[in-house]
Amino acid sequence: MAEPTTGQEKGPTLKEQLWDPIAGFGVTFRTMFRKVVTEQYPKEKLPTAPRFHGRHQLNRWPDGLEKCVGCELCAWACPADAIYVEGAENVDDTAVVGEDGQPVSGRFSAGERYGRVYQINYLRCILCGLCIEACPTRALTMTNEYELADDSRASLIYEKSDLLAPLLPGMEQPPHQMLLGTDDDYYRGNFQQPIPVPPLPAAPARPNRPQATPEVTA
Ligand code: SF4
Ligand code: SF4
Repeated sequence: MAEPTTGQEKGPTLKEQLWDPIAGFGVTFRTMFRKVVTEQYPKEKLPTAPRFHGRHQLNRWPDGLEKCVGCELCAWACPADAIYVEGAENVDDTAVVGEDGQPVSGRFSAGERYGRVYQINYLRCILCGLCIEACPTRALTMTNEYELADDSRASLIYEKSDLLAPLLPGMEQPPHQMLLGTDDDYYRGNFQQPIPVPPLPAAPARPNRPQATPEVTA
């Protein structure tokens, strides 16, 4: 039960009336002369920490073949079940082209298999990086790109074409033969010809999708 009031409560003291407002404005004045730390995002994008975990990238070998061998280890390592991989056999003899003109078989990677379907669902991904630790060929890495917001759930499921690194000068669009040696040479980096380190290209813009940064193992 509330205590009965006496009608004689004390008002603010002299210190509270005079000094406290001055002390409060003192904080304001001190802050006015400090360095401004406000970031004008999205007009100004500050660089992230070098090892910031951003959007994923599927890397290529220097001849353009994909590093992903469709082993699904990344999908098994993912605690959020955000990765879906379907592997398929590489075929050395012939490259079969489908009705839409896109190759449906041939050699896409330097292993026995390649990732025929590769999806990452960014509605589920927590950008923890466990998938890139699990990848045996360093096919999967993470960029510093963090602008992943979108207004559609479907567009946040990234397909292989969204995740693949762009072709650099000197690379050929798969499917094609292993141009740098055997699969063991690829895995160990013992390439049979010198690999020029190409400059970074200005990749064509993809609507609502951040661009990949090429990674080349020389
Ligand atoms: S970063 Fe983490 S949550 Fe995202 S796909 Fe990789 S393992 Fe899964
Ligand atoms: S990205 Fe790496 S771990 Fe995932 S399927 Fe490809 S090779 Fe395997």
